[in-house]
Amino acid sequence: MSAPHQLDQRARNAFREAFGYPPGSVAVAPGRMNIVGEHTDYNQGFVLPAAIDRHTAVALRLRRDVRIALSSDRYGGSIALERLPPRRQGNWADYVLGVAREIGNRFGEGPGFEAVVASDVPVGAGLSSSGALEVALAVALLAARGIEMAPLKIAQLCQTGENEFVGAQTGIMDQFTALKARGGNAILLDCRSLEDEYVPLPGGQLTWLLADTRVRHELASSAYNQRRIECEAAARELGLTSLREASVDDLERIADPVQRHRARHVITENARVLSAADSLRRRVPRGLGPILYASHESLRLDFAVSCRELDCLVELAAGMPQVIGARMMGGGFGGCALVLVESTGTDDVEQHLSQGYAEEFHRSPQFYRVRAVDGVMPERVA
Ligand code: ADP
Ligand code: MG
Repeated sequence: MSAPHQLDQRARNAFREAFGYPPGSVAVAPGRMNIVGEHTDYNQGFVLPAAIDRHTAVALRLRRDVRIALSSDRYGGSIALERLPPRRQGNWADYVLGVAREIGNRFGEGPGFEAVVASDVPVGAGLSSSGALEVALAVALLAARGIEMAPLKIAQLCQTGENEFVGAQTGIMDQFTALKARGGNAILLDCRSLEDEYVPLPGGQLTWLLADTRVRHELASSAYNQRRIECEAAARELGLTSLREASVDDLERIADPVQRHRARHVITENARVLSAADSLRRRVPRGLGPILYASHESLRLDFAVSCRELDCLVELAAGMPQVIGARMMGGGFGGCALVLVESTGTDDVEQHLSQGYAEEFHRSPQFYRVRAVDGVMPERVA
């Protein structure tokens, strides 16, 4: 049985166990990797994500009253609410409630619901467990209420839920990918026009290996907000609405050296996304190697969002002939490194990274070998 079907079944079973009757709808949404294009989405730039074979399933049934009952196999206990609260609760339910609230804002407040979450997406590792949860919940709740909505609109609704209810100022990449991904492909997404193009990923000869540092430094969210502010200031100084419109020739007009570096990352990273997409379109995936390394250096030096753990994994990877390229992935200060490996060398690479990392940090990284899969499974009303 495929991973999404297994999770679908797990969520159904857990729902039946919790409530004694079957769910009304179930939806299964994937996490994602991002091949290149980091900190570009909120600068109206380009990203190149793909959905991965790690999923979150939501099984849901509408109630006759307005109560809400939630549980997740990742968190103990269940959450019971008298009604949809107007403000965040400060726990995982916020991701569910934010999306439910946005659906209510657009289509009128509906009845309450019971929902059960089952997932194998690592939480907080930069693989978008939050986006997968939001999208699965949205698709399941919309199906239960009999509302049809275009995928892009669902992605935007989920993003608004995360931005306004949870309070995380993230871009649209995660939700867009969970909805629209296609197996074996990455999505070249223009975050300004929201136009997208599928680009083919390499077949079985190469493997996408995610090496999770298993650290998340405190700095992560404050630095994220600070980088957003620095990028906005740099764009303003150039008289532009975003750094998307800037080119390397503009850099010397940015007086503040920190802002100049931040801008340089965004400008060069956008170019790297386009050139990576081009390599993939031309079916020369090994051309990604230098692009991945250059992205890492730019994130480390110009954008200053890497950390010792990520640098260590990328350096170890770069020392191996079986590795095509590697870089930190996600917002930074922890999470995963993305490593593109010759498939035959994957075991050796894992071992080398494990050893080198353990010598330095006295712990092992966690590895995920991932495949590019389809976006959210069409909702099924039981
Ligand atoms: P990520 O990179 O994994 O998306 P985030 O910090 O954006 O990291 O989102 C993680 C949060 O999303 C968790 O702290 C939790 O609140 C919520 N979440 C993710 N997956 C689940 C799940 N399976 N069950 C309940 N909550 C989840
Ligand atoms: Mg997230």
